[in-house]
Amino acid sequence: MLKFTEIPLEGPKKESDLERKKHFKEIYSRYAKKKAEDQAARCSQCGVPFCQVHCPLHNNIPDWLLLTAENRLEEAFELSSSTNNMPEVCGRVCPQDRLCEGNCVIEQAGHGTVTIGSIEKYITDYAWDQGWIKPIEVNIERSQSVGIIGAGPAGLTAAEELRKKGYQITVYDRYDRAGGLLIYGIPNFKLEKEIVLKRTNRLMESGIVFKLNCEVGSTVSFKSLKAKHDAILIATGVYSPHSINLNKNNASNVVQAMEFLTASNRKGLKDKVNDFDNGRLNSYNKKVLVIGGGDTAMDCVRTAIRQDALSVKCLYRRDQKNMPGSQRDVCNAIEEGIEFNWLTLPINYIGDEKVKIVNVINMQLGSPDETGRRQPEQISGSEHEIKSDLIIEALGFDPENIPLMFKEPNLQVTKKGTITIDFKSMMSKIDGVFAAGDIVRGASLVVWGIKDGRDASKNIHNYLEQKNSTFVKLSNKEITHAI
Ligand code: FAD
Ligand code: SF4
Ligand code: SF4
Repeated sequence: MLKFTEIPLEGPKKESDLERKKHFKEIYSRYAKKKAEDQAARCSQCGVPFCQVHCPLHNNIPDWLLLTAENRLEEAFELSSSTNNMPEVCGRVCPQDRLCEGNCVIEQAGHGTVTIGSIEKYITDYAWDQGWIKPIEVNIERSQSVGIIGAGPAGLTAAEELRKKGYQITVYDRYDRAGGLLIYGIPNFKLEKEIVLKRTNRLMESGIVFKLNCEVGSTVSFKSLKAKHDAILIATGVYSPHSINLNKNNASNVVQAMEFLTASNRKGLKDKVNDFDNGRLNSYNKKVLVIGGGDTAMDCVRTAIRQDALSVKCLYRRDQKNMPGSQRDVCNAIEEGIEFNWLTLPINYIGDEKVKIVNVINMQLGSPDETGRRQPEQISGSEHEIKSDLIIEALGFDPENIPLMFKEPNLQVTKKGTITIDFKSMMSKIDGVFAAGDIVRGASLVVWGIKDGRDASKNIHNYLEQKNSTFVKLSNKEITHAI
């Protein structure tokens, strides 16, 4: 260990921008064994590991780095997966520059961070290859059942943890596939879908029942779920898109980020997508304009360039330094040929059935508001036009109206529409109904969804233990009845 002075930081190989633009595969390759060991050996084994402090899951990073450097990969995998239900997903999609790696002590000292995310991904990919990751074996089945609404990272994690304890679990999701934003939001070039499918298949093989194409509030009622299960977890994410309130006159070429990304991910999964095939959600040969500066906007611009757009521009009202998205993704987008119009605000759409021109105005950063963030101000006289064939609005998401959707007025929500919970027990205002993930935090990160899912499972377990602490050995027939 402590090799950071002799071994320089070296990330996994990144495919050249020219090549990677031709397909949707992940752009980073996996470390070879020797490279992973060398990079792990750069760690200085800090007594107070700031990487671990700043990982939302408090992963035991220094210890699994040591085990990797010593070629004890099975132990490294056991340790890493003891705190994280999807380490290979986090290794790929966490904004490490803001979390573990950004706080690595040797990064702060100017030597370049330990490549924690890439090593985490390496360990778990290797574990999958070796067949170390198996369906959950439940020793003692419990009679109590838990209904989980939402098969995103928060719901899946809670399902896994509760199943390990022997509960009968049913996960309900309105999509036709499990995974939430892992499957239909995040594009393949960041997270290939086989990775997600492996995880969800394992949960299915572990006895967790998935009711897909099942929207709570329409396909089944929330009331019926409450009557059926001993506890409920709401993990429905946030899906109501922010709007810039420009008059788009029902123009068919102004689309929301999620419909655009879902269509692209579905094509990757070989689904038939009419709105892609008829061109509405396809960037091929078009001048594409993406409005927004977060992770979703970066995913849209990089998807559009891979769909052979004529040109792709990104409009953002602040500057690069103040973009909310991961800087790694912004840099990748720049390399891939995206043109960024920073400090630019759209003010008008022009066109009838199709918007042909977007009027924009230049901005400057003024004084900071109460949060300390400098506010963008319009520069009068700087209005100009940008021509476009496809406009994608990627401005963030709010929660849907869950009490209305569930026809459950007793479900209390905050002013922002997120579900109100007791932060200790994670229970909502309704007895036995818990909530976790984006629907509580607002739009957040995969790793926080996993953390919330783990915490919710502990709280649900405590709640159910207090209600009825007896173990019941169920026959297969009884298990089928309980779910
Ligand atoms: P979700 O993943 O949204 O899952 C919620 C599930 O609930 C969905 O499957 C939905 O179909 C289901 N559902 C909703 N309502 C109902 C209902 N009434 N009945 C049944 N089912 C219902 N985070 C990162 O860490 N790194 C990234 O690179 C990253 N990229 C992102 C890119 C995009 C385009 C987006 C939109 C988000 C990205 N995020 C990223 C954020 C991350 O994906 C989310 O924070 C995370 O998925 C939240 O997990 P969740 O389980 O709370 O919700
Ligand atoms: Fe870093 Fe995310 Fe892994 Fe934590 S889960 S160690 S923040 S990559
Ligand atoms: Fe190793 Fe960096 Fe974590 Fe210290 S902060 S234990 S050097 S990874």
